[in-house]
Amino acid sequence: MTNPTVIIGAGFAGLFTALHLCHKHYARPVILIDQAERFVFKPLLYELLSNEMTTDQVSPRYEELLSCSNITYVQDLVTDVDLNKRTVELASGLCYNYDNLVLTLGSKANYFHTEGAAENAFSFRNSDSANKLKKHLRSCLQRASQTKNDLERRSLLTVSVVGGGPAGIEMALTLADLLPEWYAPLGGNIAEIRVVIINRSQEILKGDINSHLQTTVHKAMAKRTVAVELESQAAVKAVSPQSVEYEQDGELKQLSCQTTIWTAGNDVNPLIKNLSIPEDLRDRSGRLQVASTLQLSSFPEVFAAGDCAYTDAHLPSTAQVAYQQGAAIAHNLSALIKGAPLKPAAVHLRGTMIKLGLGEGAANIFDRFIVAGQVGHLIREGTYLELLPNSVHNFKATTQWLTDEIFHHHHHQIHQRQSAITLGHR
Ligand SMILES: Cc1cc2nc3c(=O)[nH]c(=O)nc-3n(C[C@H](O)[C@H](O)[C@H](O)COP(=O)(O)OP(=O)(O)OC[C@H]3O[C@@H](n4cnc5c(N)ncnc54)[C@H](O)[C@@H]3O)c2cc1C
Repeated sequence: MTNPTVIIGAGFAGLFTALHLCHKHYARPVILIDQAERFVFKPLLYELLSNEMTTDQVSPRYEELLSCSNITYVQDLVTDVDLNKRTVELASGLCYNYDNLVLTLGSKANYFHTEGAAENAFSFRNSDSANKLKKHLRSCLQRASQTKNDLERRSLLTVSVVGGGPAGIEMALTLADLLPEWYAPLGGNIAEIRVVIINRSQEILKGDINSHLQTTVHKAMAKRTVAVELESQAAVKAVSPQSVEYEQDGELKQLSCQTTIWTAGNDVNPLIKNLSIPEDLRDRSGRLQVASTLQLSSFPEVFAAGDCAYTDAHLPSTAQVAYQQGAAIAHNLSALIKGAPLKPAAVHLRGTMIKLGLGEGAANIFDRFIVAGQVGHLIREGTYLELLPNSVHNFKATTQWLTDEIFHHHHHQIHQRQSAITLGHR
């Protein structure tokens, strides 16, 4: 008897594996399992926070994305995976046997055992966390506009963002424009708002694919409605609802703030941690080592991709890597059925984009040009909007942005608009 192909985790890697399988008229039934009802387009979560986009745009329902007859979407929490028995167990009690399995469970926040961080810091990884943060910030501003206590007001108006990587930068710069926009109509003094990035290393964006944007980001930090502050070489020691404590220059310091947002690291999904895969086939954070074809060496019927796996190519944990790996897995699953040779996943890093506040962004095209300011913002949003997965019937539009074409398209546009914008060679 043939068992289905089971995909667990319908994020960038898992969803795009399923969409590509559908497009290829894959001959086996596919079970796509995710705990959530909606796909999360994480690069646009800031737009959800700022109301620049709606939940339906940033986080469409899987039902709307998948209308392929041989793909069954199951909304459930995966509780156990047994690679030896080839079974996947769900919280509802359902259990699936598989012939092929795709592990695309992503990552979770890593609090590095920091006291109080998991309980008191806000995470920012899905639409629920974006909406929770929005509600909390609005409440802080309303309370700040009414309190007579100066210390309390300052603490309500101070936001600390832990981590100076791309997620921390995008968050801090967005808030430095957004909070004044929300506070001014309440009659508050926007000059009292503080947004402070607390970064462990000396440099922001250290070791990140966006690290060459440091100068652009520093300029943007200073230009926000309220300037973004930076505490460098500062190791966070504890987070409470009222403050964040960090060590800097050998001194323990405390910042009084009623909002701490944690963006400092990724940890491997607990299900991936619990798999019967030895330590020598994982990296330090527990991610699974996969061959260039994205198969596990000890279980070649199993593929893994996105944030929960790594290859010798040492690609960054990003959406653009994950969705391209999804296409490669779909190709290889189809090849397996036909008895054709499997291909190594080809992942092209064509450029990066970063949000630098409301209506401002930077796009790094082909790793050769940096476009900053409003045009950078338009390229970023335009690219992502084209990237948002629609119904699989609209497959070409859905995935076209995933190809080089989108960058060629923008590349030409940029040349046409060169006179109007700042375009710098790296
Ligand atoms: C705020 C933020 C901004 C980002 N911005 C960018 C950006 O601008 N550019 C970029 O390239 N990358 C960006 N990233 C990184 C990017 O989103 C990730 O690298 C990408 O989502 C990884 O894809 P994935 O498929 O591995 O995992 P994910 O997209 O995280 O998907 C994992 C899926 O698994 C599901 N899942 C997990 N555990 C279970 C379980 N036990 N049972 C059932 N389902 C489960 C989850 O619900 C989720 O849908 C950003 C990330 C964040 C958090």
